[in-house]
Amino acid sequence: MSARKSAAVRKKKASAVARKSAKRVVKKTPKKAAKTSKTATKKAKRKASRKAAPGKNRFNALARSRARETATQRRVFFFGDGQADGHADMKELLGGKGANLAEMTSIGIPVPPGFTISTEVCAEFNQRGQKLPVEVKADVLTALANVERLMDLRFGDPDKPLLVSIRSGSRASMPGMMDTVLNLGLNDETVRGLALMADDRFAFDSYRRFIQMYGDVVLDIPHDRFEHRLDAEKEASRVRLDSELSGRALRRIVASYLEIVEEVTHEPFPQNPRDQLWGAIGAVFSSWKNQRAVAYRRINGIPDEWGTAVNVQTMVFGNMGDGCATGVAFTRDPATGERNFYGEYLNNAQGEDVVAGIRTPQPINESSRVADTRDLPTLEGEMPKVYKELVRIYKRLEKHYRDMQDIEFTIQKGRLWMLQTRSGKRTTAAAVRIAVEMARERLITREEAVLRIDANSLDQLLHPTIDRSQEREVIARGLPASPGAAVGEVAFSAEQAEQRAKGGAKVILVRTETSPEDIVGMHASEGILTAKGGMTSHAAVVARGMGKSCVAGCGALAIDYERGVMQIGEHLIREGDPLTIDGSTGEVMLGFATTVIPELGGAFTELMKWTDRLRTLEVRTNADTPQDAIVARRFGAEGIGLCRTEHMFFEPGRILAVREMILASDSHSRESALAKLLPMQRGDFEGIFRAMDGLPVTIRLLDPPLHEFLPQSDEDIRAVAEALGTSIGDVRHKLESLHEFNPMLGHRGCRLGITYPEIYAMQVRAITEAACRVATEGVKVKPEIMIPFVSHARELAKLRALAEEVIADVRRESPGSRIRPTIGTMIEVPRAALTADEIARHADFFSFGTNDLTQMGYALSRDDAGSFLPQYVDDGLIDVDPFVSIDEDGVGQLVRLAVERGRSTRPDLKLGICGEHGGDPVSVRFFAEIGLDYVSCSPYRIPLARLAAAQAAISMRKKASLEDAE
Ligand code: PEP
Ligand code: MG
Repeated sequence: MSARKSAAVRKKKASAVARKSAKRVVKKTPKKAAKTSKTATKKAKRKASRKAAPGKNRFNALARSRARETATQRRVFFFGDGQADGHADMKELLGGKGANLAEMTSIGIPVPPGFTISTEVCAEFNQRGQKLPVEVKADVLTALANVERLMDLRFGDPDKPLLVSIRSGSRASMPGMMDTVLNLGLNDETVRGLALMADDRFAFDSYRRFIQMYGDVVLDIPHDRFEHRLDAEKEASRVRLDSELSGRALRRIVASYLEIVEEVTHEPFPQNPRDQLWGAIGAVFSSWKNQRAVAYRRINGIPDEWGTAVNVQTMVFGNMGDGCATGVAFTRDPATGERNFYGEYLNNAQGEDVVAGIRTPQPINESSRVADTRDLPTLEGEMPKVYKELVRIYKRLEKHYRDMQDIEFTIQKGRLWMLQTRSGKRTTAAAVRIAVEMARERLITREEAVLRIDANSLDQLLHPTIDRSQEREVIARGLPASPGAAVGEVAFSAEQAEQRAKGGAKVILVRTETSPEDIVGMHASEGILTAKGGMTSHAAVVARGMGKSCVAGCGALAIDYERGVMQIGEHLIREGDPLTIDGSTGEVMLGFATTVIPELGGAFTELMKWTDRLRTLEVRTNADTPQDAIVARRFGAEGIGLCRTEHMFFEPGRILAVREMILASDSHSRESALAKLLPMQRGDFEGIFRAMDGLPVTIRLLDPPLHEFLPQSDEDIRAVAEALGTSIGDVRHKLESLHEFNPMLGHRGCRLGITYPEIYAMQVRAITEAACRVATEGVKVKPEIMIPFVSHARELAKLRALAEEVIADVRRESPGSRIRPTIGTMIEVPRAALTADEIARHADFFSFGTNDLTQMGYALSRDDAGSFLPQYVDDGLIDVDPFVSIDEDGVGQLVRLAVERGRSTRPDLKLGICGEHGGDPVSVRFFAEIGLDYVSCSPYRIPLARLAAAQAAISMRKKASLEDAE
């Protein structure tokens, strides 16, 4: 047992406590405001009835088919004593909780009997102006009578009163967002009956809790009114805790609570249990529309028309004295996934007390012990029989649901009752381990194991994350551009970053935006924070490639480079100040947060092996250096899909030669500059070819607009003038002539190759020579030359001819060489996509540049979209940033069309994608569906892409076999 375990249980507690306090602060929406439109209701009904039909039917075939027949008419679903009208596949109609209570009941788990009023009634209730249909009321009373019969108790009976809980439960979990009423059925008379069943103190404590809850939830009486009264009584009784109040004191509290109700509502507290019941059911249905529930749905994308179900269930008490307890447990470790049953419980307590954290809960067994529970007795020791039954039940539940369960139980006078079971929340590491081990245990198939992991969540495993148990002050938010947490001293320039890093400091580079000149500083930093730029801005793309954290487009930053400070809201941050960024969430925090480096266990490797067997899509990487290529191979890259050669031009010692090449006034001086670059590029390619021995390497010829390389400072301008043997004035003149108003649509990509063929010729020569050289060392080289930014087939035809000529020359110079690079193009200009059939005549392969294709197809600037796109997402105008997930309906159609047109000319055309979308799981599925051969992404996203590709292949196979069956 480890501290991690208790952290997991505690996390659950902490969130429950947070839920409780959230509940306190959020004011309820007036119930009358809650109205659902007719169309939404109809939609919800249609959806519910469509989905209501049970899916796989493994356990109770007859009951399920009966349920299917009746589900459309039935609105109240009974469960109890091994019989249930519903089952686990009816979450749309019964909500998650109701469906699982029904399922547990019908597989023989002891569940307090009760019934679920369906989500359809929620819509009807709202439609009828917050009124329950009479037929539903009749059904509720029939179900209630059934419960009474089973429990041998009666609702409102002064001697043997049945008490019930009224809880919400929608199909998606919305923890703590809606309302609950417990102990319903208590009044001045039944409280005496309850006292007979237990004792006075217990009965009046339950009654005062009930009045307070009912008053708050149903009657809209401010919570504080009751709390003040309770505090006054505690002071008068000289006690600190509620649990220390005597029976007499609680009687007094009950009397004054009843007065409060009358004072505020001008009516006595409802003494008739049926009135209480209708009031509570109505309030819980209405709570679907309270402010916090609406906000939660918006954040989590839960449709308003789903509605909540209401569960009415017999109260069982873990606080009735000896032999009573309540607890929570996980069937496996939610932090690590280890196959250990563990949990905590409290003797003589209610569920709320376990999560409130006032008393230290006891471990249920030895393996649940943590440091602070070392000396406490366990449930296994205190109530061995009950514990044994709990073990039997958890095993049964896990086997039945075929997943790790998070369970809640209550023991009332030695009798065990299960109150809830649901799939347990878990860390990604635990999710991977649990899925793999369950497949090994043959509880699920390997395909199911692969489908169980959220591909995006793998980021958690591959990068450091912030230790969430610690407080953090978030001072701003930007785009989560490259995952992982980074902590360091602030540096406002690449040079500073480099210097600080050399001095041994960890650094966060903060810039308004980055440019290729910042590469070295970015490399030296732990993370990058920019004020401007979107998800495919320079900072984002480069950081992702380097596996570094990046928060981009954080508009709240105001950087004053001269003073070496930045303002974020009220915070003034100086160079060297400590800062933390979380590139997975976009958060910026003051100070150094503690980070956690995840371990990749054997389960991860195993899961990845399974994905490779299942997928059909190849996964390559975008890598510009041998180091990146080595990392990518370790992550499972099957080749390089994009090697951006321009990044190599910024290496120290090269940029001057690059500037000479650009600013040369004639081809002679250009060629002499290129001659300096040739051996350097050749060396780069040799390194990459060696690292990718046996695998294909796609090298893209120079792409970015020339201005990115041009000198800015006087010093740099002087250096270039000297190197070229010309005057500073001449260089300045040339710089002006190269100025472009719209460089992204200007002199870039293959347009450079057309106007300066020497540049591309040099690069092709460097690639081919490097390939010939490493081949002689026994390295298996598969070079692929890629021409960027093509918009017209003739551009490609011309540049292909140029490349072929250079390749032929090199081959002549290296007799016996069998190197023959293939030549292809990027499809990143809409015109190229539309004329893909023409372009394919000259291409051995296409690689979709979806960053530029999105920029031009959607008319969204890659570098400026960060300032307005987030609002589009917030306002629901678009679901997701199209630079993150491919816009399937628009830009995606350009890709689809180009695939069809390209293959119509050349059926064997190799097709890939190398834009940032290649590492986005949703986009990967789309690319698999439209028939691409590979996706290419930054090294750290390769595992995500492998998993997403396997998931896509599984769902495509399933879809195909369903279609075949039809
Ligand atoms: C693209 O446009 O998708 C692409 C991969 O090229 P770059 O990001 O370098 O423009
Ligand atoms: Mg591009």
